[in-house]
Amino acid sequence: MSDCIFCKIAAGELPSGKVYEDDELLAFHDIHPFARVHVLIIPKLHIATLAECMPEHESLLGKMLLLAPRLAKELGLSAGFKTLINTGRGGGQEVFHIHVHVFGGGEPAPHAQS
Ligand code: 5GP
Ligand code: ZN
Repeated sequence: MSDCIFCKIAAGELPSGKVYEDDELLAFHDIHPFARVHVLIIPKLHIATLAECMPEHESLLGKMLLLAPRLAKELGLSAGFKTLINTGRGGGQEVFHIHVHVFGGGEPAPHAQS
């Protein structure tokens, strides 16, 4: 997707604060964090939303979720963390390349407090 900002980040065409990369996934700091730690986990494959995932994406989705606690631990969120996947305009999604928010560690915005 030539006009997708997260595809450009995945391709290295735009800078990001990368915290993890492998053949299939990339994770980087959110540009507007709403907690002390706030990273996004994306697949390098362009999939617009969770609602467009198909059975063949099962493994990829599993890898994204399994990376969340690993990164949270590495980034110091030993007491726990939050995950969020916004889906579709009605779900508050702004970037239409699927991503998992992983965040925590203090001073979240009011809407992100538990
Ligand atoms: P959404 O609302 O789609 O679930 O979340 C999109 C997230 O991407 C937002 O938290 C926003 O701050 C973040 N974001 C948007 N553009 C960029 C960018 O160019 N770089 C980084 N690192 N984060 C971005
Ligand atoms: Zn994309």
